[in-house]
Amino acid sequence: INSKLPEVSTTIFTVMSTLANTYGAINLSQGFPNFETDKGLIDLVTLAMKKGHNQYAPMPGLLSLREIIAQKTNTLYQSNYNPNTEVTITSGATQAIFTIISAFIRPNDEVIIFKPAYDSYEPSIELFGGTIVPIQLSMPDFTIDWQEVATKITSKTKMVIINSPHNPSGSILSKEDMLQLEKLLEGTDIILLSDEVYEHIIFDGLAHQSAAKFPGLAERSFITASFGKTFHTTGWKMGYCLAPRELMAEFRKVHQFNVFCSSHPMQYALAEYLKNADTYLSLPNFYQEKRDLFLSLVKDSRFSFTPASGTYFQLLKYSAITDEGDVAFAERLTKEHNIASIPVSVFNLNQQDDKVLRFCFAKTEDTLKRAAEVLCKI
Ligand code: PMP
Ligand code: GLN
Repeated sequence: INSKLPEVSTTIFTVMSTLANTYGAINLSQGFPNFETDKGLIDLVTLAMKKGHNQYAPMPGLLSLREIIAQKTNTLYQSNYNPNTEVTITSGATQAIFTIISAFIRPNDEVIIFKPAYDSYEPSIELFGGTIVPIQLSMPDFTIDWQEVATKITSKTKMVIINSPHNPSGSILSKEDMLQLEKLLEGTDIILLSDEVYEHIIFDGLAHQSAAKFPGLAERSFITASFGKTFHTTGWKMGYCLAPRELMAEFRKVHQFNVFCSSHPMQYALAEYLKNADTYLSLPNFYQEKRDLFLSLVKDSRFSFTPASGTYFQLLKYSAITDEGDVAFAERLTKEHNIASIPVSVFNLNQQDDKVLRFCFAKTEDTLKRAAEVLCKI
């Protein structure tokens, strides 16, 4: 077969979750909560199904859901999204990201991405003939060197992809970062894809710097969001994207032919559920407690760390334990110690191995305690 993606193998999330299941390991690899979704939200889905909302939703999404999303975004980020033309409901952020890339990337267009990068960006760009221009984030804090970015922007640059809070590092972009980016993109027609799926999972009183807050960015941005992260429903594959009218019109030309629309009853439920802002405003505290518990339990282990500022992932450095590569070490931890994590090198430029593993702390207290007990013995 003449593969369109000869270098691509099965995603690390599937590889590690499968290995975790095979060995009965505590699975802190693939990012998903192991506690239940709010029963109130589930009841709203059931109700929508019972009321007969079981056929196609409108192509861009249910208007009442788009309205409440626009209202929430405009309130939080002082933006001005129009629910009719500038919000589209998608089947997860993954579909939004793929659709954005497919709607705009032509052969030889350059796309700047920051490594370590979430693993769906690159294959999506490659499929449409785009050229990936990777920039490694600077250690130890996964920061962006904006001067380096300036040197990588060319007349072929079509898109820049950012992700804050950042998977896998848990770092975030500051207001200063966003202003630097705004200045760099000024006067160009470069599109920004701002992947903000963890917008509500941010700690230590820090504020999420959405691209929506910066007029010079918002005018050229797609912002992607995920209800999977926000409402502990990764299996529902529900999300949305925001963009100015002209950009969104192009997005919808593709969206109507790759999914047409997303799950209708779930859209009814989410529209109702979002009326209560506590459902998402409570997330920083909720997840900070989990992060703090996990870190307090592993602080006397041989792993070292900088606390995550956002996301539900914590990186642990293991160089004091072994020289093993992170892929081999993650595999051995799963098989021999029954704890699964994600090796970060798979997301890095040239698989750079900094001897760090990513652990998901979206877990019950009991699971976090059991996991930490294992980690402290290694
Ligand atoms: N972007 C990032 C950075 C993610 O971590 C994820 C979820 N793993 C996604 C996009 C995809 O989100 P969804 O599950 O809604 O497709
Ligand atoms: N976003 C999740 C993670 O980073 C996994 C998503 C997936 O499995 N594709 O672990």
